[in-house]
Amino acid sequence: MIPDILFQTIAERIQSVTGKPFKLLKTVTVGGGCINSAYRLEGKAGQYFVKLNHKDCLPMFEAESLGLEAIAVTDTVRVPKPVCCGLVEDQSFLAMEFIQLRSTNSACDRLLGQKLAAMHDVRQAFFGWHWDNTIGSTPQINTRHDDWVEFFAKHRLGFQLSLAKSQGYTGKLQREGERLIECLPDFFVSYRPKPSLLHGDLWGGNYAGDDTSQPVIFDPACYFGDREADIAMTELFGGFGREFLAAYDHAYPLDIGYKYRKSLYNLYHIINHLNLFGSGYLAQAENIIARLIAEVR
Ligand code: ADP
Repeated sequence: MIPDILFQTIAERIQSVTGKPFKLLKTVTVGGGCINSAYRLEGKAGQYFVKLNHKDCLPMFEAESLGLEAIAVTDTVRVPKPVCCGLVEDQSFLAMEFIQLRSTNSACDRLLGQKLAAMHDVRQAFFGWHWDNTIGSTPQINTRHDDWVEFFAKHRLGFQLSLAKSQGYTGKLQREGERLIECLPDFFVSYRPKPSLLHGDLWGGNYAGDDTSQPVIFDPACYFGDREADIAMTELFGGFGREFLAAYDHAYPLDIGYKYRKSLYNLYHIINHLNLFGSGYLAQAENIIARLIAEVR
């Protein structure tokens, strides 16, 4: 049970950052998250969405806030505008714009396809980001790199594989995982990805509509990378209608080899699930690795 005084303090921080009066009248729990506890803070003149976690999670909230800001300034896909983050007693918090989220429909899917294509057209000169963040609650390293294959091998697949090793997943996963990493250049023979701004954790649980059926994405794990990585994740767990991919591909056509790299990109998330949620994901990870190696050998 979170004490009222904690929410009062957060409300005061929101008021001082926005410069707008915000007298807290009511706090309502919001469900649906995987990592944090979430609340709607209601005042007379508005409402805010607030996430709370243990004080050690402040860097995670700082990274999320920077990610929301990075997407917001592109003026492409709508994200909740971050307001402030910080520590209150033994808790860290992130406060942002509250958006009344609705289910999506095909018009919303289509718009997301067009707007995500525009967001992916936002580039920088190198892969990575100026800030490390988290994927779920797992650290995600974004050290600057000029070579995408090296970046993905080291900071994505390699990082998750060594985490799995430290959790006792040795043997076949490691052996075949290393073989796959050696084969990585074979997936990029005629394809040179550009460093696009990515959401980074674009599964259906992080996508909704607003009350005008505009698409909203939230809970990002941003970095600059191959845009195929975002698209692959939209196909991993469902939640994005057919219109989404059709509209995206129309606005910013995908390379013909995407179909071969899709599982490669999703393997990163499957091994992350193995690390976060346990051995139920081991067979899936090993099967994907075997199929990928078979494709290039
Ligand atoms: P977690 O970091 O724990 O995964 P999420 O960011 O996914 O939490 O948020 C939990 C739920 O809260 C989401 O599934 C969504 O329904 C809702 N939500 C997220 N951001 C907002 C927002 N800015 N305004 C209103 N509801 C939100």
